Amino acid sequence: MARYTGPVCKLCRREGEKLFLKGHRCFTTKCAFERRSYPPGMHGRRAKWRRKVTDFGTQLRHKQKARRVYGVMERQFRRYFELAERRKGVTGANLLQILESRLDNAVYRLGFASSRAQARQIIRHGHFDVNGRKTNIPSYLVRPDDLISVRDKSKSKTYFKNVAEEMERRLVPEWLSVDVKTLSGRVLALPTREEIEVPLNEQLIVEYYSR
Ligand code: SF4
Repeated sequence: MARYTGPVCKLCRREGEKLFLKGHRCFTTKCAFERRSYPPGMHGRRAKWRRKVTDFGTQLRHKQKARRVYGVMERQFRRYFELAERRKGVTGANLLQILESRLDNAVYRLGFASSRAQARQIIRHGHFDVNGRKTNIPSYLVRPDDLISVRDKSKSKTYFKNVAEEMERRLVPEWLSVDVKTLSGRVLALPTREEIEVPLNEQLIVEYYSR
């Protein structure tokens, strides 16, 4: 599946807030948003003060922000929305639950990576098993009771030795449990809306697709 390969920090500047797409760098003074907190482009600085945002514009921005936070392209995002509509319950909450269930997000939340983009890369490089089977598809949707583990032959890699130390300090959401010793994590349940800590208004995304 395709992925965005352009400049990442511009996405934060476009959305007008830090989306934390680059892991550790986002917490340093090198963060582009800290240095230039106005939209990218020649007229970015002026646009910040002059922009009038319509209802449609607000809905569009929230949809784009969600796509960017989870690193999903438009076509796949729309597919997730259609899946969320078919599921029982509130469509917006379902949509966020589906996005959180992506394997790359689960690997990131478990602390194996410092960003979703990095999680995506280590998954694509074949370092993970799901329920004992090699899985290198970042968009794989995890289910309750799934066991996500680093593959035996990857455990000796320097990256995973270093990451284990960092994992000790990371907080894991309640819907996941992690075992740093075995470099594995389990999905205890699918996350509820309250357990999903992302600065998104899912209702506006539903309104965008319901026009
Ligand atoms: Fe966004 Fe992180 Fe880049 Fe800062 S460093 S602009 S938070 S991606």
